[in-house]
Amino acid sequence: MRKDDCIFCKIANGEIPSKTLYEDERFRVILDLGPAARGHALVIPREHASDLYELPEETASQVLVLAKKIAVRMADKLHCDGLNLIQNNGEAAGQTVPHFHLHMIPRYLKDGQKIGWVPGKPTQEELEAVRKQITE
Ligand code: AMP
Ligand code: ZN
Repeated sequence: MRKDDCIFCKIANGEIPSKTLYEDERFRVILDLGPAARGHALVIPREHASDLYELPEETASQVLVLAKKIAVRMADKLHCDGLNLIQNNGEAAGQTVPHFHLHMIPRYLKDGQKIGWVPGKPTQEELEAVRKQITE
């Protein structure tokens, strides 16, 4: 379903123009307007789902297959040295557009970007506690 006030619904369905790299009946892949690096793209399903939690499993399973195809093409055409796939869910995770999207960020040696986190140093007990919390 399309959501009337959602910018990515409008972009994915062609109501707002975008630099489109690929489209089919389920997805549109566009260039990000604020790229982290040259060729930064977004895989956007046409159907509205706010985030991964809402995304239908069938769509979720298709996203990575499509991303793989685009990734191969990016490597071939852009000659990038690496690629980050990033997918943000919720404000705490940095999501700013509440329509599921997968970032594909080609990386270049010395591109100057910093995409990462500060590693924690959990004890074995802390790791076990969180393992239990998630699995039990
Ligand atoms: P996120 O922070 O994960 O929700 O990512 C949203 C991304 O959408 C950001 O990287 C923005 O630069 C990008 N963005 C927002 N509006 C547009 C637009 N109209 N066309 C292309 N990219 C957009
Ligand atoms: Zn939407």
